[in-house]
Amino acid sequence: MKFTEAQRIQNLPPYLFARIERQIQKKRAEGVDVISLGIGDPDMPTPVHVIEELYKEAKNPANHQYPSSVGMIDFRRVVADWYGKRFGVQLDPQTEVVSLIGSKEGIAHISWCYLDPGDTILVPDPAYPVYAGGAILAGAEPYYMPLTAERGFMPNLADIPTAVAKKAKLMFLNYPNNPTGAVATEEFFREVVAFARENEILVCHDAPYTEVAFDGYKPISFLQIPGAKDVGIEFHSVSKTYNMTGWRIGWAAGHPDVVEALGRLKSNLDSGQFQALQYAAMAALTGPQDVVEKNNNIYQERRDILVDGLNAIGWKLEKPKATIYIWAPVPSGYTSESLTELVLEKAGVVITPGTGYGPNGAEYFRMSLTLPTGRLREAIERIKKNVGKVEF
Ligand SMILES: *Cc1c(COP(=O)(O)O)cnc(C)c1O
Repeated sequence: MKFTEAQRIQNLPPYLFARIERQIQKKRAEGVDVISLGIGDPDMPTPVHVIEELYKEAKNPANHQYPSSVGMIDFRRVVADWYGKRFGVQLDPQTEVVSLIGSKEGIAHISWCYLDPGDTILVPDPAYPVYAGGAILAGAEPYYMPLTAERGFMPNLADIPTAVAKKAKLMFLNYPNNPTGAVATEEFFREVVAFARENEILVCHDAPYTEVAFDGYKPISFLQIPGAKDVGIEFHSVSKTYNMTGWRIGWAAGHPDVVEALGRLKSNLDSGQFQALQYAAMAALTGPQDVVEKNNNIYQERRDILVDGLNAIGWKLEKPKATIYIWAPVPSGYTSESLTELVLEKAGVVITPGTGYGPNGAEYFRMSLTLPTGRLREAIERIKKNVGKVEF
């Protein structure tokens, strides 16, 4: 029997990393020792005290029943306290925080709460693919805001045609940014608040990398901008901060109506996250924080090895202030696709083509800092030997 897929799923582009994964498998089958700077998934382990908390709470029968779909009040209180301490942002844990099964879950679902078929959503280009993916599933049409190096990868809101701005219901932003590694200025966020007010747009700020930063830099939260809570929400999680991507727990915080709508949708879709896991996330947020600095020092060293190593052979990489990514222009004569293919073929090194994050990524590639220094040095050696100098 043949089944006709719904239009909404036919319209979904294949998830970028599924294709890259196939290419890696093929190379490995040919006996190549592939070094993947592709997917950005922290390679260091979750802190031991977090794992211990999961053990302990997993043994408590009180945690074996359905959790609340919006998260335990204790979990939401810990998130609110963390926002207070880290950003000076006051949140009501009862009404302004909802737990998520990883922030990706909420990012994909928020579109279902606010977008009807034919509605417009503002999405950065390049961007994490889930913003447009969730919107397309809801039948909405993304309007892409180009991110350019000249503007520090912050969109020029003045370039958005008035008719589009008036029609748009939702806007996604993400700083520190994946894939560009860019950070936002307070001034830009202030512009966003004014723009959202003026055009009645819900701002969804995705902020999983606020704790992954270098050289003493401390990224800001969108919610610390005056008026931000009135126009938007912020998504965050323990995934990148505490090496917990596999655990699947995050949250959305901000405007109470939006938090309530997301919670209402979720109560019809899922039953929240395992309570023992919520306790573990609380342990991460309230326990010793030295792990965060340790991680950042490791990422910073890797960043410096990659950037300095490739620049030494004439590449043009810049050091990001935050995130686990390096975003760099492709040499002249190459496209992001042809460069990635060349580097994989000749050096057995996987880098991600910028096009995977939107058409505006066509002249860029991305590298992740999620491999130990030895492997990064090996990758540089192979690129040096087999790809060599390139022209920009
Ligand atoms: C990793 C990542 C996420 C997803 O994080 P989870 O909380 O693990 O779902 C969301 N947005 C961006 C930009 C990311 O890079």
